[in-house]
Amino acid sequence: MYQSFIGLEIHIQLLTETKVFCGCRAAFGDEPNTNVCPVCMGYPGVLPALNEEAMRKAYLVARALHCTISPAAVFARKNYYYPDLPKNYQISQFGSPIGRNGHFDLEFHRKKKRIGIHEVHLEEDAGKMIHAGDMSLLDYNRAGTPLLEIVTEPELEIGEEAELFLQNFRRMVRYLGVCDGNMEEGSLRCDANVSVNLRGKGLGSKVEIKNMNSSRFVRKALSYEIERHQEILGRGGTVLQETRLWNENRDLTESMRTKEEASDYRYFPEPDLPPFKPSEVFLKAVDEALVELPEVRRARLLTEHSLSEGQVDFLIEEKARADFFEETVALGVDPGQVAVWMSADVKKMLNRRGVELADSPLTPGRLAELLKLLESGRIHGKIAKQVLEAVFDTDHDPTAIIKEQGWEQITDPAEVERYLEEVIAANPQAVEAIENGDSKPMGFLVGQVMQATSGRAEPKLVQNALKKRFAVQTVTLLEMGGAITGRVEDGMVVAGEPGESRAILARVAEKASAADRSAFTQVRVEVPTTEGRFSEEVDPEDWAALLATVDRLLSEGNTAGIVVTHGTDTLPYTAALVYWFFADTKLPIVLTAATQPGEEAESNIRSALMQARSGRPGIYVAIHGELLSPINLKFERVAPDGFANWNLASPAHTGKPLVSSETGLPNRDTLKRALEDALRSVYVARVFPGMRAESLIDVMGSGTRFIILELYDTGTANVRETQFSIRKALVAAREKEVRVYCTSQQQGIVDFSEYPAAHELWKDGAVPMGRLTTETVFARLLAALVLSENDDEVRSFMEVADA
Ligand SMILES: [Zn+2]
Repeated sequence: MYQSFIGLEIHIQLLTETKVFCGCRAAFGDEPNTNVCPVCMGYPGVLPALNEEAMRKAYLVARALHCTISPAAVFARKNYYYPDLPKNYQISQFGSPIGRNGHFDLEFHRKKKRIGIHEVHLEEDAGKMIHAGDMSLLDYNRAGTPLLEIVTEPELEIGEEAELFLQNFRRMVRYLGVCDGNMEEGSLRCDANVSVNLRGKGLGSKVEIKNMNSSRFVRKALSYEIERHQEILGRGGTVLQETRLWNENRDLTESMRTKEEASDYRYFPEPDLPPFKPSEVFLKAVDEALVELPEVRRARLLTEHSLSEGQVDFLIEEKARADFFEETVALGVDPGQVAVWMSADVKKMLNRRGVELADSPLTPGRLAELLKLLESGRIHGKIAKQVLEAVFDTDHDPTAIIKEQGWEQITDPAEVERYLEEVIAANPQAVEAIENGDSKPMGFLVGQVMQATSGRAEPKLVQNALKKRFAVQTVTLLEMGGAITGRVEDGMVVAGEPGESRAILARVAEKASAADRSAFTQVRVEVPTTEGRFSEEVDPEDWAALLATVDRLLSEGNTAGIVVTHGTDTLPYTAALVYWFFADTKLPIVLTAATQPGEEAESNIRSALMQARSGRPGIYVAIHGELLSPINLKFERVAPDGFANWNLASPAHTGKPLVSSETGLPNRDTLKRALEDALRSVYVARVFPGMRAESLIDVMGSGTRFIILELYDTGTANVRETQFSIRKALVAAREKEVRVYCTSQQQGIVDFSEYPAAHELWKDGAVPMGRLTTETVFARLLAALVLSENDDEVRSFMEVADA
């Protein structure tokens, strides 16, 4: 088994007004050769003068990286000839840099890791050579601009880890305000060195990779290079020590030159600059500029507010964004609401208009005002979105906007009731249907009232008025087939007729005490699917029908709770699916199933109905007198205890959902198509002894973008180098950008971070799913694919650790 070592050399252009050793302007994009003088052009006899601002920023980075600060930083000449270097030497540091022995903490795949920082030193940048046809042109504007080099220890192991390091590092320098971090313009550049060797044998031959101008290329180049080394070593070859270039068009590295040794540069101390000895005043100023860094802020925000990790990650990505969040919260609004608005509607608005938060008309004051108007009920959700848009359009305050537009909500119940009576008078058929027990027209009536008030009536008031008018106390039972509503014919269980649950309910009610009876008579039965099928035949259409019906019932708000009767085999999928879509439900949603019709079915339906009437919001599975979590439900064919619950967490999952459906799901047909698309891109496989990688590679070609791979428990995962190794499949997946999520065949909580073979898996890009079962991960992926706007959102939804 091989081990890889990656070290990064990162160069950042410090944001200073002037160059590091002369007074020329340091700016990107000016006319070529306009920001030059005798000093930076290397004329004979000129003297460099050190820019203290550059030094302050350099020390700031060294401090943020927890380096030991040198009491005397020495400048040295690095001698080499290149046309973009007019002096024939570069002023750099060698032997006594600004800082050494620092570290940078990383959290990779839910595991914390500390990466050593070898040193931080300041140097001057070279000019730029521009090749135009058969001519080469030189622009010296960049020559002499301050460049800070950060060298890590070779402690990163795989491309993905290096990519994450670079992204987090970039975020840090932007927080510090020392560099804009723009990799395309070259203000942040990264070279990497990589070596591969047999595990335990130390470093191998070192190869340096250049020309990677995005963090994605850093990942791809390193993954390619590690693979190349392993291949060479695998056939007994030797890796040549050299410098290679990443070719982004061909997705490979190409040899450039064999590497110079440090002695080739003939370093010697710069005679024109004395060693820099930072004074106490200087160091104090540096410490004062040290802002709270992203990782620290992340931890603090997670402790201070009940936000999900995904929300906090979004907020801290930019310092300005995190500042905006905290300033808004400080004005007395709910942090959860601020986070939701910032990550959804505000983000969309900014993207659509192509503006940055700081340059937009939205201020923390205005967002707080908007959210307070919403909270106090003066406007409702839909109007709030219009107000936000109007803030961007008109640059006015939210309160002024609702006055100008007449958008203030009707909050007087009597006024709402007056509108309702008008609507009722105009729709006698709907009223008659409702009075006969059909709830569907309730939503229609809500819509009519909203229309009559131009959307100004508070939806909750309308619903309350309706409930009051029709006294709705009913639970809705959604019949999805399965043995629970089946019949026994010739000793075999067959699907019952659609609506079979009405007969079961009548039997349950008959046996119930007088006090409990109403619980089983005030039940509305709906059959979302068209057939009274067995649930093992569940297809995307059935799921779409179920999800759309639940969504409709939740938004109509005229049911006291929802019971879903289902088949046993596929319940672990459907229960998890309902959870991932509706975890933030305000009603009880109770799923139930039975292995046999008759008494078992009646008993389970009885307990599900009692739970649905309890008023306790959440998603539950009621079975054999127990309430189980919808997550990690595992069916085993052992009657009468047909279900085993893998995680023993409380079923009261009322936590924040990772993706919220609060804006309402798409309609049934759209949902069906979205689920079909999602299912086409997902493949579930279980690792078995002797499994061949080819069987997985084959499915990657046919539109599969995600694979859920169920591994053995804590033993090997077929990643050894044999013909039966699945490693090849993981490598292929990475190349084809197919995401592999790993679950376990082991019952109980499996901590993949302790998985002996985990390192090898994550190295190849597989993602551990912690303690979630395959069924639960599958359902989560479907929900993510339906509710996310792009692959990045899917990724972050899948890769956020569960609370
Ligand atoms: Zn100059």
